Amino acid sequence: VTSDIFLAFYNTTIMSPTNKKYDFSGKVALVTGSSSGIGAAIAIQFAQYGAKVTITGRNAENLDKIAKKIAEVSNGVEALQIIGDLTIDDSLPKRLIDETVTKFGRLDFLVNNAGGATPQGTLASPDLLKGFDDVFKLNVRSVIELTQLAMPHLEKTKGNIINISSVASIKPYMVVYSSSKAAVDMITKTSALELGPKGIRVNSINPGPVVTAFGRSMGVDPSHHKKMFDSFEKQMLMERVGQPEDIANLASFLASDDAINITGSIMVNDSGCLLKMPEFGKDELEKIQK
Ligand code: NDP
Repeated sequence: VTSDIFLAFYNTTIMSPTNKKYDFSGKVALVTGSSSGIGAAIAIQFAQYGAKVTITGRNAENLDKIAKKIAEVSNGVEALQIIGDLTIDDSLPKRLIDETVTKFGRLDFLVNNAGGATPQGTLASPDLLKGFDDVFKLNVRSVIELTQLAMPHLEKTKGNIINISSVASIKPYMVVYSSSKAAVDMITKTSALELGPKGIRVNSINPGPVVTAFGRSMGVDPSHHKKMFDSFEKQMLMERVGQPEDIANLASFLASDDAINITGSIMVNDSGCLLKMPEFGKDELEKIQK
């Protein structure tokens, strides 16, 4: 049910070819966490602009659905699908880079998007550290490792990296998740500093709430997703909750040469929620968790 809700989105938001803003033909992208949500929207949009893409995630069925969308928007260009779990399979980061380069011959864009949280949000939770290692392995370690592995390929293409962080790195939210995303922001800045001289740009996108299946990693029952996003909507400064394509639009801009002067940036994309700082934290979450 969850996948149907979040995949239905793509049936309504595919842009017509007349809306093409960028030309990514000849470019190759690896987007992690692209079997659903934000990563899927980015992979689809990059493909629409002509890039060849590698998509990856744990759910083979969803991955296949996104691959079909990609073929639809790109006149039949096939995505490379790689199934795997970044918290379990230590060989996966190398496989993602190697297989992408073997299949497509180069790498231009690395989007470190796969991420998760834990259901335990506060220091008061006795289980707080239960998911800590997995969250940090996925949100932090995999980003560093993929950056390191992608580096020589991106140097050749003068490519760039986009890390999907969160407003939770700026506004304190849940201790484990927020601190992992604060680490992502610093990975962006340190990598940008080190890789700038190689001609590689590195930027973060920090979304506010976006309508995806993300709540599942926080223990939110999928049947409560709609209620959760409806309650967020009223609290957003702009009274709208983000859609995956909002984030994909910024990712395409950052990947493109229009952003040639931008590196090391932490780019908030949040319907103004940080300005208003809605209280969608602990209490709301506790109400809707299983
Ligand atoms: P989704 O749950 O829809 O997507 C998460 C993606 O990451 C899926 O493709 C999932 O694969 C993949 N993934 C999760 N865990 C693993 C793992 N262990 N190994 C490999 N892949 C994994 O959520 P979003 O699209 O919302 O999340 C994308 C990014 O956006 C995350 O980094 C998140 O922190 C960030 N973000 C999201 C916000 C939101 O409100 N939605 C707000 C701010 C930031 P699969 O489904 O196949 O398991």
